[in-house]
Amino acid sequence: MKEQTKAKIGDIQPFEKRVWLSSPTLHGEELEYIAEAYNTNWFSTAGANVEAVERLMCEKVGCGHAVALSSGTAAMHLAVRLAGVKRGDRVFCSDMTFVATANPIRYEGCEPIFIDTEYETWNMDPVALEKAFELYPDVKTVVAVHLYGTPGKVDEIKAICKRHNAVLIEDAAESFGASYKGIQTGSIGDYNVISFNGNKIITGSAGGVLLTDDGAAAARIRKWSTQAREAAPWYQHEELGYNYRMSNVIAGVVRGQYLHLEEHIAGKRAIYQRYKEGFKGLPVSMNPFDGINSEPNFWLSCLLIEPDAMCRQERGELTASYVSENGKSCPTEILETLAMFNAEGRPIWRPMHMQPMYSANPFVTREGLLNAGEGSSAVGRDGKPLDVGRDIFNRGVCLPSDNKMTAEQQDIVIKLVAGCFE
Ligand SMILES: *Cc1c(COP(=O)(O)O)cnc(C)c1O
Repeated sequence: MKEQTKAKIGDIQPFEKRVWLSSPTLHGEELEYIAEAYNTNWFSTAGANVEAVERLMCEKVGCGHAVALSSGTAAMHLAVRLAGVKRGDRVFCSDMTFVATANPIRYEGCEPIFIDTEYETWNMDPVALEKAFELYPDVKTVVAVHLYGTPGKVDEIKAICKRHNAVLIEDAAESFGASYKGIQTGSIGDYNVISFNGNKIITGSAGGVLLTDDGAAAARIRKWSTQAREAAPWYQHEELGYNYRMSNVIAGVVRGQYLHLEEHIAGKRAIYQRYKEGFKGLPVSMNPFDGINSEPNFWLSCLLIEPDAMCRQERGELTASYVSENGKSCPTEILETLAMFNAEGRPIWRPMHMQPMYSANPFVTREGLLNAGEGSSAVGRDGKPLDVGRDIFNRGVCLPSDNKMTAEQQDIVIKLVAGCFE
């Protein structure tokens, strides 16, 4: 850390209790629904809580059918299977995302082709998606995420999928409660996924849900998620199944949390706005969204450092370092500073095409295929970095966004970030 930074933030004490990126915020009703499951002995994968979660999700998201599952990843897996892929098929997938968007494509023996990111919402770039269809016209499945709770370019992506007769799988794991033109994420694609993992906007401690308007598809998911039993007096099986159903205990937690969804979103929005206000005058911007058409759930607040304000930062496969410089900073310096004061930030989700396990997969930018190794500093015809995901990863930081963080704590986080730019 720079000497001036140390001097400027020298009188700030580390947080006594860790300030988290995003941790479960519990309210008490969860326990009542768990107790109900306990007292009625519905302690397995059926019961009133599971039924309630499915009903509430349909109502809130505006989808015909919801199937409660053991995780968002399980839901993604079954969504990919529902899309009707065969082993060896190629599937287009958001590049800048959490790995659980992409892995289910591999579970089904298919090859993810990663589609680069745009700067306006940090989601799948429709221009790159269209390019990908030019290169691989046979692809019939697209998996698109709404990263950090911000809806992507929904109209453009839907139109492209429609034109190419492709199934759209929406990974709304992080974006429950966010909407685009008044339509909730989780109801936009053909098969849609929301997660209740411990760090999401509401949690079941674990769990996920698959949403679709297709009743027959929902019935298949119910069957596949309970070992694909046939209707027979004994265990009868004609196809491959999984143990992916949500427990009635977990569903109790989700049911209790659901009562606080809007409150959590309001809290996250306030956090985002406080950062935005607090960073005025610094060479950073917040993770952007389409202010006309979309209403994010503000799950995570992130900042992006202006290119001119970046100090030198070196990131290897497993390590990071930087060279401090007056008036400049970088994600590594900010994250180290936050950690020193017992606050949890995180790098932007490292894009899939930069992951060792996926670096050999095709990666399509707005100008076409980008070969591995070629990427890091290439510039597009518009003068902007060609590899947008890499650029956002290099310059972006996920900030502490926990619903339990107080305004006073957040003001300290803001001071720490400001200190990095001294
Ligand atoms: C959390 C997450 C998932 C997976 O959900 P789990 O419930 O943790 O399995 C999938 N995609 C994205 C983008 C996520 O953030």
